Amino acid sequence: MKVSGFIAAVFAAAVLAACSSEAPEEIEATGFTKSYEPLTFSELDVPVNIEVIDGITYADGVLIVNKEIPLPADYNPEMQPEVIDAYTQLFEDAKEQGLYFELVSGFRSYDYQAGLYNNYVARDGKEAADRYSAEPGHSEHQTGLAIDVGSYDSAVLLQTSFEYTPEFQWLKDIAHEYGFIIRYMKGKEDITGYMYEPWHLRYVGDKAPAIYESGLTLEEYFELD
Ligand SMILES: [Zn+2]
Repeated sequence: MKVSGFIAAVFAAAVLAACSSEAPEEIEATGFTKSYEPLTFSELDVPVNIEVIDGITYADGVLIVNKEIPLPADYNPEMQPEVIDAYTQLFEDAKEQGLYFELVSGFRSYDYQAGLYNNYVARDGKEAADRYSAEPGHSEHQTGLAIDVGSYDSAVLLQTSFEYTPEFQWLKDIAHEYGFIIRYMKGKEDITGYMYEPWHLRYVGDKAPAIYESGLTLEEYFELD
């Protein structure tokens, strides 16, 4: 009994040794434990949730208005308090860097936008006006979530050259931390329908960092056609 017991013990030890030395190698050899990384949200390909509530379109909860997607004429939310808080903080933090912003434009009602747009069309013609102005019901300024900003120290207001001011150079890579994105990006006119507007900020709240990191327009990010 002693001998067979010894043999059994040796056998068991050999099995244990085989298990402890070979099994992990097999797992590692597959590469499974080393190559696995969690899928990111975009890789999961979750469909964008588009909702229309009271005539207002939302993509994953983010209000969308563009050349195709309108707002109701009677939608008059005024400037949203969280947006006022966000740009106030942004402007305050900028001052500490010696940078000075001014608020050029905020909420605009449907009727006010109609007056603006009609003036632009009368002055420049519809085709030119449509590159920089929205038809009534299609302006982001009617959402109370969009602002136009300028550099206080320069006369550069609502001009593409705003991008060369120290204010914009600081703003472009930090606006998302305050919930804003540059809505009408350079080289994306065929997608957004608007010329590059470095001064136009759209508040999208906590989705801003992900949208900024993507380098995409709202239309692309939410796969709106
Ligand atoms: Zn604007």
